[in-house]
Amino acid sequence: MAVKKPRGTNDFLGKNVLLLEQIEETVRKVCKSFGIGEIRTPMFEYTELFARGVGETTDIVQKEMFTFEDRGGRSLTLKPEGTAGAARAFVENGLISDAQPTKLFYITPCFRNERPQAGRYKQFHQFGAEMYGAYDAKADAEIISLAHTILNELGLKNITLRINSLGCNECRKRYNDTLKTFISKRLDCLCEDCKQRYEKNPLRVLDCKNENCKKALSGAPSVLDSLDDECKTHFQKVQEYLTVMGIPFEVDSSIVRGLDYYTKTVFEFVSDQIGSQGTVCGGGRYDNLIKECGGSAMGAVGFAMGLERIMLLKQAQGSDDQIEDTPDIFIASIGEQGEKKAVSIGYSLRLKGIKAEYDTMGRSLKAQMKYADKIGAKFNICIGDDDIASDCVTVKNMESGEKTSMKLSNITEEIIKTIKENK
Ligand code: ATP
Ligand code: MG
Repeated sequence: MAVKKPRGTNDFLGKNVLLLEQIEETVRKVCKSFGIGEIRTPMFEYTELFARGVGETTDIVQKEMFTFEDRGGRSLTLKPEGTAGAARAFVENGLISDAQPTKLFYITPCFRNERPQAGRYKQFHQFGAEMYGAYDAKADAEIISLAHTILNELGLKNITLRINSLGCNECRKRYNDTLKTFISKRLDCLCEDCKQRYEKNPLRVLDCKNENCKKALSGAPSVLDSLDDECKTHFQKVQEYLTVMGIPFEVDSSIVRGLDYYTKTVFEFVSDQIGSQGTVCGGGRYDNLIKECGGSAMGAVGFAMGLERIMLLKQAQGSDDQIEDTPDIFIASIGEQGEKKAVSIGYSLRLKGIKAEYDTMGRSLKAQMKYADKIGAKFNICIGDDDIASDCVTVKNMESGEKTSMKLSNITEEIIKTIKENK
């Protein structure tokens, strides 16, 4: 029996892989104009990096990691997200002593042992961006504007940006105490996980996906009321910078995000068109992370986008329709001389960046034409002994049916010209 792919994983092929490529191209293009360089880190790290960086009390660390031991018995984990590895690499490679800020982006598979459903997989892709060194609210706004621009450039519509602030360590502690008092009166309604979260990190209860917990938490005190003056001003400034860039947002005090490392700003880009896994991008500020990874205290802000969710949204909005990868030309041939000519013309066209195809299946001329039609070639030509003798060949535009005669001796240049004129 054939072996199937593991549950919660995806094969990307055909139109899907083109869509993924298109998303990645857009990401790279936009990152360039924002002055953000790429970083590639290992697919696995020592487990303690995630325990420290992502947070011991998060769902990721508690139940979603793929962890295994190396031969020496040291615990390794497949990366469940990209930020911890990027922060580690930033410190380990001494970028910390460069002129700041440092701006990095990554595109990487991530692994989380979650229950698979639409938009939630065990292996998925994240694009993420990181900005280290800056405490200023302009950095938060810059990172948000990057995510906004990419979603826009991808042609996605009806995505809402929601922002919140969790304050600094002190504000957060104050809020956790307030929240704990609120939750203590509703403990009975909470799931077992939340009862534990209540003890260790009450903020996490706000991020529970369980409907009963969500209900029990309605009317919870707002974190924004626990912010001190500095954190309030920072949040206010983020909003002002977003406003001057013309980026629409909503303040939503219920956003806490699923990772422990956030301080001050947190944000999400959400769609209601792809079911319950509607968060396409999540991020915020994490000023404790670089220190946690062994560096000095340093501002940090970033986000991660789930590429599969972006793909689902593109499909839901029909904006994946224009994606095509059809050949520019099919060169049919008949007879030995014709076949050789087809191979040599096809190869010279490919060298010039033209998507040229010719027969490699030993098909009859009729079958070659049928195949050219099937693969959607925009032009075709057919080369036989007569054409070689007369140095003349007919190029057919498959869409309009228009035929043009061209000199075979000059065919490469003529075809390139025709194809370019048609684009
Ligand atoms: P969620 O609340 O959906 O579980 P999260 O808080 O765990 O998300 P992050 O860890 O911030 O999300 O990851 C950033 C983005 O990565 C998410 O907004 C989502 O688009 C994507 N993502 C997270 N987990 C998965 C998954 N298992 N499968 C596909 N995409 C995912
Ligand atoms: Mg999650």
